[in-house]
Amino acid sequence: MASPVDLASLPLDELTRFVTQALQEKPFRAKQLFHWLHQRGATSFEEMSDLSKALRQKLAQVAELVTVTKDLEQRSADGTIKYRFRTADGKLIESVYMPSPDRKTLCVSTQVGCAMGCRFCATATLGLVRHLKPSEIVAQVHAVNREVRRNEGLDTLRPLTNLVFMGMGEPLHNFENVKTALELLESEEGPNFSSRHITVSTVGLVPMIERFAAETDVKLAISLNASNDETRERIMPVNKRWKIAELLDAVRRFPVKQGRRVTFEYVLMEGVNDSDENARELAALLGGLPVKVNLIQYNENPGLGFASTRDNRAAAFQRILEAQDVPAFIRANRGRDIAAACGQLANVEVAP
Ligand code: SF4
Repeated sequence: MASPVDLASLPLDELTRFVTQALQEKPFRAKQLFHWLHQRGATSFEEMSDLSKALRQKLAQVAELVTVTKDLEQRSADGTIKYRFRTADGKLIESVYMPSPDRKTLCVSTQVGCAMGCRFCATATLGLVRHLKPSEIVAQVHAVNREVRRNEGLDTLRPLTNLVFMGMGEPLHNFENVKTALELLESEEGPNFSSRHITVSTVGLVPMIERFAAETDVKLAISLNASNDETRERIMPVNKRWKIAELLDAVRRFPVKQGRRVTFEYVLMEGVNDSDENARELAALLGGLPVKVNLIQYNENPGLGFASTRDNRAAAFQRILEAQDVPAFIRANRGRDIAAACGQLANVEVAP
C-alpha cells in the first residue's frame, strides 16, 4: 500500500494537484484544506468543518496530518518559553518562544540532533538523528501560535511575528525541506510571514549559501565564532572543509537586497576567541562588508569545557569592532536559566 501523503508538507500548487488529480475534487477544496493546515494549524481532519464528511474520510484514508505534540514546557524568568515537542515517531525537538515589547519571535529546529559537531554546542552531542520534514518544521510554528493565543488571550490567528531558524540542527544541511517550509510559512494563503521577518542561520556550508541566496528570499545569519581559521577549526569542524576566506567570498556574493543584510553571530568564549587581538582580526575580516555582528556571551554547558566571556570583556570587544566601523551589538541572552539559549538545546530537562 502506498504510504500516506504528508499533506502539510505540500505547497499550495502541489496540494492542488493532489486534491484535483488523486481525489478528483474541485481546486477550491485545496485552498480550503491549505487554510485549515497553515492558517489555523489544524491537528485533525475532524475539525475541518467546511469540508464534507465524505472528503474528510477520503483524506483520512490516503493522507496523514503530520503534527508535533507538546511534551514539556519550561518558562524562564525573562519571559522566554522553551517547548519540547514529540514527533509522530517519538523523536524530541525543541523550539524557543521569545516575546519582547515589539515582536514575538520563535526559534525553530530543523533536524533532530545535528551533524556539524560544534564543540561548544549541546545539540552536537546528540549527533544527527534525522532531518525534520517541512510539515514538522511548520508544525512547531503552528503549535506555538496556538500556545501564545491561549496564554496571552489573543484572537489573532498568527500572533508570532518573527522566525529564526537557529534551533536544533543545521538548516542548510536539510535545505530542501527548509526551503519548502519557508514557502509554506511565507504563503499568503498560509501564515503569510514576511521574508524580512525570517532569518536562517548556518555554520557556513558554502555551496548551500549560493543556493540559499538564489532560491529563497529570507535573511541569512552566519555562525562565525572565530577570527582566524586555526581557532575556528578547533571549535567548528566545518571550517576544515570551508575556510573563513571561502565563507566570506560566499557572503560577498550574497544578494544584499533591501533588508537582506547578512548577520554574523559570534559566541564569545573566555580565553578562546575574545581577546583584543581577536576583535582586531575580526574587524579586519569584516571591514567593508555590509554586515553586522551579534556578540553573544556563551551559555555554559556542563561538561563541554568552555566558559562565558565576562561583561567588561564583551564590551571591550564590541568597542574595538565599532572603532573599525563594524556594527556590533551585544545580544541579550534569552532563556539562559532554562537552557533555551544559543547552543543549549539538547532535550535536557532543567529543574525550574
Ligand atoms: S551550533 Fe548549530 S550547527 Fe553547530 S552543532 Fe550546534 S546545532 Fe549544529
